[in-house]
Amino acid sequence: MRLWPALLLSAIAAPAAAQSPPPKLIVAISVDQLSSDVFDEYRPLLNGGFAKLGRGTVFPHAYQGHAASETCPGHATILTGSHPARNGIIANNWYDLSQTRSDKSVYCAEDERVAGTSSSTYTVSPVHLKVPTLGEYMKRQWPASRTVAVAGKDRAAVMMTGQRPDQRWYWNGKTFATDLKGSATPQSVISARTAVANLVAQPQVALVPPALCATKAGVVPVAGGGVPVGAGRFERAAGDLSLFRASPAFDGATLALAAGLVREMQLGKGAAPDLLAVGLSATDYVGHRYGTEGQEMCLQMLSLDRDLGDFLTFLDRELGDYAVVLTADHGGKDIPERERLGGLAGAARVDPAISASNVGKALAARFGLPGNLLYGSNFGDIYVDRSLAAGQRARVLAAALATYRAHPQVEAVFTNEQLARTPMPATTPDKWTLIERARTSFDAKRSGDFVVLLKRDITPIADTKGGYVSTHGSVWDYDRRVPIIFWRPGYPAQSIDLPVQTVVILPSVAAMLGLPIAAGGIDGQCLSQAPGAACPAR
Ligand code: ZN
Repeated sequence: MRLWPALLLSAIAAPAAAQSPPPKLIVAISVDQLSSDVFDEYRPLLNGGFAKLGRGTVFPHAYQGHAASETCPGHATILTGSHPARNGIIANNWYDLSQTRSDKSVYCAEDERVAGTSSSTYTVSPVHLKVPTLGEYMKRQWPASRTVAVAGKDRAAVMMTGQRPDQRWYWNGKTFATDLKGSATPQSVISARTAVANLVAQPQVALVPPALCATKAGVVPVAGGGVPVGAGRFERAAGDLSLFRASPAFDGATLALAAGLVREMQLGKGAAPDLLAVGLSATDYVGHRYGTEGQEMCLQMLSLDRDLGDFLTFLDRELGDYAVVLTADHGGKDIPERERLGGLAGAARVDPAISASNVGKALAARFGLPGNLLYGSNFGDIYVDRSLAAGQRARVLAAALATYRAHPQVEAVFTNEQLARTPMPATTPDKWTLIERARTSFDAKRSGDFVVLLKRDITPIADTKGGYVSTHGSVWDYDRRVPIIFWRPGYPAQSIDLPVQTVVILPSVAAMLGLPIAAGGIDGQCLSQAPGAACPAR
């Protein structure tokens, strides 16, 4: 039975246009938090950029298969062909209890060795990414090839372009910034900064929702102290950077800067193929702030569809031929309060008693030990204090495991030792067991002493007063399934419901470009249905 996907893949390959020369520009787009569920829901309603790309080769139910379905790991799989276990990006944040600074947390896209920094006031860097990205492979093959990233988040830009891209710009909360030193700021960045500053300085009146969003507009109270959601229309006061970021205008700004750099740098018109990586983050900020099933997400999807359409029309005029791959870093789910209204009785917020900090405090009291004993969040990797004597440490670990395993919201707990002896999965990601999902997120040096996986439909946010009401990060398919679209002018439309993974993108695009990738260095395999991908024999 293992053979059938491979047979099917070769049977439905699209040889018709495979003879055209390789594209001169690869545009890799990540729509942060675009789950397969949201994509399925809106795909029939959209007639802009998503509709255009939807006439490419669409895998509506592909996978970011790993357990820690977060932004940094997700973006790190897209253009490396590698799971977190290989690329080293196991989470947005992990702990390194051996580091000397007082903040023991490490942000995925920082260089914690820079003096005076912390995981929240950090120096942006790709130093944690252990493998090359598509742009690095392209530069090795064609030194004239250029790599450019534009994203709403630093970690999206960094993880999609790795070491030494030509330009890398991301929103730093106030403006577009870069971690690269030494070159002059492009005029398009200067223009985009000014345009966005002017936009944010003005108050935004409420958007007028079209009829198709009306069925979504119902106000839903949120537990945990947050404000009700569901009927928002993105009005904001002058200067409100936080609401700007969680609004459709944010993706518009990102795409406008990407277009500006395409023209200024003449991407796709040089001696070698170029790469443009675009991270569109507003869908994620909107999802976290309002959930995925309200009027807010409807307005976001319609606006993104229109902006994406304008961006592709610009590329059509500028270049004619280019190739797009669009996917997401992870999926997401709605707020439990609205899910329960819809009949999902088991949807709930996490019990705050099982945060690492609260369990750690309880164990410290029980054993008469100082400090918190545990480092981590509400779920995922949890680390036991390294300063304990070996015997104490073993007792604390055993008690912590027992506490988590006995809790009704916990699905499974796996120790570092269990994960270290689990082989990487060899089946398709829809078949992976829970420990296999956790194994692909496991790095012996960076992972915790154990990993806590919550039950399906448990939202790991108890306190919503900070403005985050829903999230992702779980081992369940609503967080793991994302669309993958390959598109190039003239290639046939096809929708293929196979559980392929985002790690196929690097080898498939490489095959489209005629770019050799050493066998054994990545996890993904070339996908013969990607337009023009003449996959190497294996
Ligand atoms: Zn994300």
